[in-house]
Amino acid sequence: MHRLALLDHKYIWHPFTQMQDWLKEEPIVITRGTGPYLIDVYGRRFLDANSSIWTNLHGHNNPEINKAIRKQLSKIAHSSALGLANEPASILAARLIHAVNPSFIVDSAKTKLSKVFYSDDGATAMEVALKLAFEHARRAMGIEHPRFISLSNAYHGDTIGAVSLGHINLFHKSFSNLTFKTDSIPAPYCYRCKFNKAKPEREDARLWRKCKEECLIEIEKKFLKAKNSGRPFTAFVFEPLIQGAAGMIPQPHGWLKVASNIAKSFGALLIADEVLTGFGRACSTITREKQYSRCLFASHQADVQPDIMAVAKGITGGYLPLAATFTTMKIFESFLGKYEQFKTFFHGHSYTANQLGCAAALASLDLLVSKDCYNTRKKLEIELDKHLSSLWQLSHVGDIRRVGMIVGVELVQSWQTRAEYPLQLQAGIRVCKKMREYGVITRPVGNVIVLMPPFVCSNTHIQFMINALFKAIKDVLGN
Ligand SMILES: *Cc1c(COP(=O)(O)O)cnc(C)c1O
Repeated sequence: MHRLALLDHKYIWHPFTQMQDWLKEEPIVITRGTGPYLIDVYGRRFLDANSSIWTNLHGHNNPEINKAIRKQLSKIAHSSALGLANEPASILAARLIHAVNPSFIVDSAKTKLSKVFYSDDGATAMEVALKLAFEHARRAMGIEHPRFISLSNAYHGDTIGAVSLGHINLFHKSFSNLTFKTDSIPAPYCYRCKFNKAKPEREDARLWRKCKEECLIEIEKKFLKAKNSGRPFTAFVFEPLIQGAAGMIPQPHGWLKVASNIAKSFGALLIADEVLTGFGRACSTITREKQYSRCLFASHQADVQPDIMAVAKGITGGYLPLAATFTTMKIFESFLGKYEQFKTFFHGHSYTANQLGCAAALASLDLLVSKDCYNTRKKLEIELDKHLSSLWQLSHVGDIRRVGMIVGVELVQSWQTRAEYPLQLQAGIRVCKKMREYGVITRPVGNVIVLMPPFVCSNTHIQFMINALFKAIKDVLGN
């Protein structure tokens, strides 16, 4: 075993990993990266097919982002945001505020996301969102005990507040005595929805489903019941367009707009968790109306402007931990007052508004809004669809769903019955392991294989990636 792998085995505890299994084999030790490739200690090259857990946008060792970080590094790496402002954080804030308020969505100062609160990760960005909504509700909405409602199988991060907003039993059950109670509404999981009366077809379930959108009626009922009980929901928390850790569960066209209108009609705040979906990741460039094809945030593509929005993963192009929570002036003003009123937002982190992270984010944003990047994303979306369609031949592929540059391929025992593989069979894990032998790295969510290519891929990379997936499914599960 390589000496670095030995050190890892001896000392490191990996996230979301059964360490007993981890210790059974030599891990891949990454030493370099270039474009869409990860390169290990032995010089083996792997396609980074999940963009290093959904973070990377413009590839590894990107010359523009490298340059921006180096330039910032020659000035200063970090100074505190407690009591001090800094150069890249100020410039980035203005750029971000511009980006989260597209003119075709934001029509008044009331709906404008005017302030940015920096933090480090998706969980911290959601923790900030939660605390802001909580205090705002108590101070300005006259709600003593704010209530939160989110989607079934929601995932919003691993800190205790974020865990409380989540509903993934497997992850969250162990901490149930530590968390506070939140409510949930059924996510529109068309492929496995109890209201979907159609027989499965060899197509994305959103296209063949037969229902009367009963899920939306359930949402309305739930909000009404809460209101009638005298304790209405304070905020509706959602991942727009697609839920990630739930298993890449996409929302049918128009669903989010109706769901959020229901929430708003009952006076609830909208909290969008764009940690995964933000920065072009979940936005399709292929839409009829041109302005929507330019969206960088999934909420906007769904024609929704939230009151609070959290971003992280892609913000630095996958380089450094940085996150942001955006909010309206109205919420900001709930925290204003004389010092001795102690209305201050008592929250912050040591590395808040870190200069290197902000410099990387600025360079990443420049790349993201360029014509080149836009055209590449468009080309890659078409290429993904073209090659993904080959997977329908396999009887253990139940559903293939793509939202922007995010793909979920759900493995099943039989496509006709949609019968699930029990988790202990590790169907997803085994397929991904096999893909590594074919030079492609990704990580499943249960029985769902995730493909989330960096935007610097070529058509050939996409073909290679999907071909590896095809072979791996066949090898592990059969035809
Ligand atoms: C990854 C993720 C988070 C948590 O982000 P971390 O940076 O891992 O803390 C929160 N929400 C969504 C939707 C995510 O995908």
